[in-house]
Amino acid sequence: MRWEKEAEALLKKVPFFVRGRVKKKVEDFVRQRGGNVVTREEMLAAKRALRDKAAEAQEGFAVEGCFGAAGCENAVTSSLALLEKIENLLREEELTSFLRQKVGGPLKHHHQFRVALSECPNACSQVQIRDVALIGQVEIRIHPERCSFCGECERVCEEGALTLREDGPVLDQKKCVKCGACTRICPEEALEEGKRGYRVLLGGKLGRHPRLAREILPLATEEEVLLLLKKVVKFYKTHNESGERLGAIFDRLGWEKSFEEILR
Ligand code: SF4
Ligand code: SF4
Ligand code: SF4
Repeated sequence: MRWEKEAEALLKKVPFFVRGRVKKKVEDFVRQRGGNVVTREEMLAAKRALRDKAAEAQEGFAVEGCFGAAGCENAVTSSLALLEKIENLLREEELTSFLRQKVGGPLKHHHQFRVALSECPNACSQVQIRDVALIGQVEIRIHPERCSFCGECERVCEEGALTLREDGPVLDQKKCVKCGACTRICPEEALEEGKRGYRVLLGGKLGRHPRLAREILPLATEEEVLLLLKKVVKFYKTHNESGERLGAIFDRLGWEKSFEEILR
């Protein structure tokens, strides 16, 4: 396959780490059309065709997790099974065909209904800018009678939520993000893990009018997460006008009112 100079110049603008793959796809495209020379026009036609193909294949939803399940030491939940259930739920709800119909054609990346999960409050998977955000958390229980006053918990808590007093550690619930770091370091089991679950937030997005997701449930079990997600999807389908993101619907109807309707 011969490349004309102008087509080569266009190819050089493609990021180097995908350039080889793009080159092959363009050559396949030209070959399928019976050609043996890549011109500037062929290059542009190939680009349009590849973009259309990608849009056709675009699913209406995306579910992402963090690396916690692969053994991150900070993980307080382990959610591979939950992520699979969420993906199945969204597939059963036929979000892809629903969105295609609302958008009136192929979907783009920004149309996707996005769910992200982080296995601890560090939130590496950028959950706060997704439609549905799940953050693994664990409550702590204090047994002051077991405390040896080593001070490790106070040192390890990045939030300044634990203070060591004469009668043992005292927790400031407002500051605690439920990461469980203090329970892992306590040598006396004076700090113990309590209820484990997910903080659930809704309505985050990037784009022209970026906003962070807001909390709807403080600490939900897997079952509660799945039940809530069903309600969120019902709300999303009921009020979606043209494929807009969940947060945009909340903006239109009012966040408080929308959350009330979802939780009803
Ligand atoms: S969110 Fe927490 S568990 Fe997940 S990769 Fe980040 S630090 Fe690890
Ligand atoms: S769970 Fe995390 S934030 Fe809460 S007190 Fe322990 S170390 Fe601090
Ligand atoms: S780490 Fe445990 S034993 Fe040490 S001060 Fe804190 S609660 Fe007490």
